[in-house]
Order: sequence, then C-alpha cells, then structure tokens
Amino acid sequence: MNAVATAKLQNQGQGKLSTEHVCIGVLGLQGDYQKHLEMLHSIDGVNAKIVRTAQEISEWCDGLVIPGGESTTVGKLMARYGVDTAIIERAAKGMAVFGTCTGMILLASEIEGSDQHRLGLMDTTVRRNAYGRQLDSFEADLDVPCLGGKTVRAVFIRAPQITAVGSKVEVLATLESGEAVMIRQGNCLAISFHPELTDDTRVHKYFVEVTREAAVGLMAR
Ligand code: GLN
Repeated sequence: MNAVATAKLQNQGQGKLSTEHVCIGVLGLQGDYQKHLEMLHSIDGVNAKIVRTAQEISEWCDGLVIPGGESTTVGKLMARYGVDTAIIERAAKGMAVFGTCTGMILLASEIEGSDQHRLGLMDTTVRRNAYGRQLDSFEADLDVPCLGGKTVRAVFIRAPQITAVGSKVEVLATLESGEAVMIRQGNCLAISFHPELTDDTRVHKYFVEVTREAAVGLMAR
C-alpha cells in the first residue's frame, strides 16, 4: 500500500494526515536502476523497490524513478507490459515521476526526428545523443539553487539536450552555455545527467520532497 492509502486508513475520521514514509519505485525494465535503488535506500523516510509491472505502479508507488538506459528499448517494453498507461494514469492522479537521461526523453512530449514511444508528460522537446557518442561523455559542476550549498557534480553519458520548454516548465539548473539540464513541471522532474553515479544524494532527496508534497496534496483531497 502506498503512503497515501496507508495514511488515509490510519487517520480515518481523525483529521490530521501525515506522510512519514513515501514509497518510491525504480522502473527496472532496462538500464541503470540498481544504483538509484541504493541511493534511495540511503535516504530516511523512503520505502524503495524495483518495480516492473503496471499493478505495482498503480497500487504501490507514490513516486517513480525512470533511470538512464536506452529510450527506444524502455519505450517498447513499457508499451508491451502496459506500464506506460499505468504511469500516465497515476501521474494524472498525483504520482511524482523523476526521469534521468532516458527517463527525461520518455517524459518529453516531443523527441526531435523520432516517433519512438514516449509518455509525453512534460511539455518539452528533446534531442537524443545531442552531445555525441559514449566517448564524448563529460562532467560539469552545476549551480542548482533549489539544492542550496555547493555545486552538483553532473555526469553526462550520451545525454539528451532539452531544446524547448513550455511555459509551465521550471528550469532548475543550466550548463554555463545556458542550456537547461534539470527541469520540473508540477509532479514531474527531469534531468539529463546521472546523479546516481556520484555519492551526492541531494537530487534524490529533492525528488523525495516532490513526492512527499504530492502525497500530502492527495491526502488533503
Ligand atoms: N542515449 C540514450 C537514449 O537515447 C540515453 C542515454 C542515457 O540514458 N544515459 O536513450
């Protein structure tokens, strides 16, 4: 049972609702999911597990991480198992979604030059592999004001580029060139780099807060 369902049950008729724990699934169809799981396990107040089915997403997740990998493969697998529909329906009801790299591509409404399968939950256009091949992967220190304190070491691996964002999209971090690399639209967070490959947990903690805010909002309904 997810945090919203648990809190509603515990607090029936008692007014005050709280979310001590949130349940965050890491989509484990393909790619870099294990590292995200380890990172989430290190954060207090989080129940985390790998999820692969529509049912787990519909019934268990308050938040979902879509990790880096290969977006055409993950898109096809999502469609084959009905996971795409479950994510779209749950996100519409307030589940938080965090896409890194491939996850960011799958969240976008437009993918330049491609009709590959996607979720289209964010009003963004992305260009795949925009920074070149595996060998052109790079790292950068980013100022991310919403995380406070020191810069974030960002690892980019065959990363997509965000080429356009709609008016509801908030840009949370950019490269020195001004290109957006971390964005948020309501309950959806997307970044083009890989925070799970460093030992800095601040990006994941931020997503936990997005999930908690969304769960509190749902409980109040
Ligand atoms: N290039 C990959 C894609 O298009 C994304 C790479 C990644 O997730 N690190 O899906």
